[in-house]
Order: sequence, then C-alpha cells, then structure tokens
Amino acid sequence: MSLFSKKNRIKKVFQRARRESWAIGQFNFSSLEQLQGIAQAAKELQTPVICGTSTGEADFFGIEEAVSLIKIINKKEGISLFLNFDHGKEIEKLKDAVDRGYDMIHFDGSHLPLDENIEKTKEIVSYAKKRGVVVEGEISKIYGKSTVSEEKIEQTSLTSMEKIVRFIEETGVDCIALDIGNVHGVYAMSPQLCPARIDSLLEKIACFVVLHGGSGIMKEEMKDIIQRGVVKVNINTELRFSWRESLYGALSAKPEEVVPYNILPAVRNEVCKKVKEKINIFN
Ligand SMILES: [Zn+2]
Repeated sequence: MSLFSKKNRIKKVFQRARRESWAIGQFNFSSLEQLQGIAQAAKELQTPVICGTSTGEADFFGIEEAVSLIKIINKKEGISLFLNFDHGKEIEKLKDAVDRGYDMIHFDGSHLPLDENIEKTKEIVSYAKKRGVVVEGEISKIYGKSTVSEEKIEQTSLTSMEKIVRFIEETGVDCIALDIGNVHGVYAMSPQLCPARIDSLLEKIACFVVLHGGSGIMKEEMKDIIQRGVVKVNINTELRFSWRESLYGALSAKPEEVVPYNILPAVRNEVCKKVKEKINIFN
C-alpha cells in the first residue's frame, strides 16, 4: 500500500461528504466496549466513521492498541473506521500517532499566540503530509469540556475570518475546527450559533470544515450546519453520558454480577444506539 493511499481515502470521504451534503461523525472512545459500539453502528448503517482519541484517551487506551484494533475490526467487519488524534497539543505525541498509523491528527494550538500556532501547525503539517496523514488545525479556542456547559459565547468574541483564512493559507492544514458559537459538552441553554460563518469561510478559501462540540446541538440546526458545508462533526460528551448511564444501569440491575461479558454488552449496545442516532442526523 502506498503512503498516500491512506490520506486519499479519508480525503475522498470528506470530498464526497461535501459534494453530497452530509458529514462524517467523529466519536471518541477510551474503552473497548465504546469502540465496539461505534464499530457496530458503522456496520449496521454501512457508513464510514472516524474514531477519535484525545490525549487522555490515547494515553489510557494506547496509540498502538487503537491503531491495531481498528485495523483488525475494519478487516473483519468490512467497514471503514478511521482514526484521529483529537485536540493534540504536544507535537511529539502527534508525530508518534502519525508514525504508528493514525489516519488523521488534530493539532490544537488555539491556546498559543497566532504566530506561534502557525509555526507549530506548519511543522506538524509538513511532517504529516510527507507520511500521507491529514491535519486538522485550530485557531479559535472552542470552550467548554465534557460536561453540561454553562458557557455562552459572545458573537463578538469569535475569531475574525481574516485570521482564520491567514491561518489556513500559511499552515496548509486540510481541515479547520471552526468556531460558530459552539462549545464542548452538552448545553445548559441553547447556544447562539452563527452558521453563516461557514459560508463566509468557504467563500474565501477551500478547506474541510469541522464542527466541535456537536453534542447537544439540535437536529434541525445540525442539518443546516451540514448543508452549509461542515464535513465532520465531533461527538464525545453525549457518548460518555451514554456509557456512564448504561454502565451504572447494568451494574445496578445485577448487583451480584461479576462477569464483565454479562454486564458490558448493555453498554456496547447503548453506545451503538447513540452513534446511530447521530449518524442518522449527519447523513
Ligand atoms: Zn473538540
């Protein structure tokens, strides 16, 4: 297999999604039953899916383990799971993910001054491109974490289009995590989104637009966002809630049970159900 066949595969999915107005879902995992649930959903719906690992998730699950298991699952099930390193902040760790077979990496330099973010992103883009790996960049901090988010983003605090275009041009990233008023986590109150920012970015520059904090965005709003050109939506928090609730439910239902394979199928099924619910909105 040539070095570039991998890159072309995931890029082709983005291109097709854009052409046909749908988005590929990215679902994060850090346990085997979560990964199995995601794979099950991809198989039942016969659609490509991106599996994501943040730094914490990758540290816990293992970079090599994630790559190897996904390779095995793809072969065995005849599906297309891709692997992305989500919100990586350490260049060395991202290079390691590239070397070990991730399809895609997301360098999050949004905490850095713009010039430093550009320099570091350029470095990782040059490293990844030579090895056929797609890069997502981030310039605007997307607030919130994996909880119920009280954060409300003032529209005036969104990053200027000029800065975003400059960032994409100078770094050569394939994908951009765009801020449209979205935050990570599920929302305590409905967010004020500015989906028109997707149109104005795509009018200025060709790139693949990614939506973070996809958990908790209403169905109709999500469809509109995808119609405007978002090709990847990241879901993590809602999946974590499903995981926790189903695990707690399964343990409570059988307080004496000690056999993992009698408990964890309920968790796997619940994760699968949530992933399918999301994919059905994105596609
Ligand atoms: Zn994110």
